[in-house]
Amino acid sequence: MTQRLVRVCVIGAGLAGLCCALAAASRGLRVQLLDQAAEPRALAAHIEVVPNMLRDLVALGVGDDCVRAGFPYRGIDVIDRHGRHLHELPTERLAGPRFPAALGIRHDELHRLLERAALARGVDLRRAARVQAVHDHAGEARVVVERGEPVEADLVVLAAGAGSALPQALFPHALPASELPQSWWYALLPRPVDLDRPLIAHGDAGRRAVLVPVRHDQAGLALTEPSVAPAGSTPAEHLRRALATFAPRLRALAPRLDETTPITRRPARAALLEVPWHRGAVLAVGDCAHALPPHFGQAAAQAVEDARVLADLLDADTGREPLFEAFERRRAERVRRVHEITTTAARWDLQPDSGADLSLLMAKLAQTVAQPA
Ligand SMILES: Cc1cc2nc3c(=O)[nH]c(=O)nc-3n(C[C@H](O)[C@H](O)[C@H](O)COP(=O)(O)OP(=O)(O)OC[C@H]3O[C@@H](n4cnc5c(N)ncnc54)[C@H](O)[C@@H]3O)c2cc1C
Repeated sequence: MTQRLVRVCVIGAGLAGLCCALAAASRGLRVQLLDQAAEPRALAAHIEVVPNMLRDLVALGVGDDCVRAGFPYRGIDVIDRHGRHLHELPTERLAGPRFPAALGIRHDELHRLLERAALARGVDLRRAARVQAVHDHAGEARVVVERGEPVEADLVVLAAGAGSALPQALFPHALPASELPQSWWYALLPRPVDLDRPLIAHGDAGRRAVLVPVRHDQAGLALTEPSVAPAGSTPAEHLRRALATFAPRLRALAPRLDETTPITRRPARAALLEVPWHRGAVLAVGDCAHALPPHFGQAAAQAVEDARVLADLLDADTGREPLFEAFERRRAERVRRVHEITTTAARWDLQPDSGADLSLLMAKLAQTVAQPA
């Protein structure tokens, strides 16, 4: 007899955990969501909701909320360091005729709207709840929480991200995510009036900037460069200096950055958990199963895709073991291909290659994710 899944415990209220909690609660399961942080992270950053990610957010029932909170767009412009237009990258409309192709959104807005949707569907969110261990206990799981009551569950979704020690404790074959020698700097700035879709700009010394509209009055800047410690300078000074090496449209942003501007610096990480992604009652999702470099917006998109597949499999109501097997069948090979494409893009950033063709790589990615997983 298959064991019915009734109680789900999701560890981690990042993008992957929020989406999985939302998916499970929408199917009538009792969901406990635990996060070690006392407050949601308020990062000065944006997320590019790329076409496949928007398609999956629509399937999870939050498409309209995303459109309301973000800045819809179609197509991406690419310019060189002198401001010459090189080409336009296409964005396919994958979310259906009612939705845009893609959108830019603030990192905190996306997390807020997902949390609101999850709570509205009955998810029980406990913050300041750091999970220390998960034990198998007579066919069910006991999730041990530091300074709190343990949680009993039929299914545990591990969405603790790439930096947490928990995935390695639970999956001894997990390799720690390796940091790529590359920095990503994020800031939110006033939106230039003529910016109605993302602009990718090449700078000097391996730098690249992406400017993404996120609201009528705001744009998100992501600037990547080979990792250099900004010795003796503040993040704002460092970013201003880096922007000076770009085309005038990007240079014009430098005066908007001062010492009061919140700036987020993030290392690019890469890791892929070999299957199995499950152990006992625990299923690994999001960055702790597949930490992808941020290229082409797939780190976030693949986290949401995990939730969409989980939603389908919970609908099928097969019980835990068949669900785990089906999840890995639908996810592992596809994520491996996306991982290969995004790490290739990251490698080309670090070691410029005359044969590198980013448009071709992006077309390969678009083909890989064109259909739902
Ligand atoms: C500034 C920034 C900008 C980004 N921009 C983009 C972008 O434009 N495009 C893109 O594709 N990706 C982007 N990403 C990456 C993307 O957000 C992640 O890949 C995606 O959110 C999936 O993460 P996750 O939910 O698996 O993990 P995380 O977001 O890391 O969430 C993990 C959560 O687990 C909690 N946790 C960890 N350990 C424990 C524990 N022991 N007990 C309880 N809770 C625990 C943490 O507090 C955290 O809330 C960005 C990330 C950052 C930080």
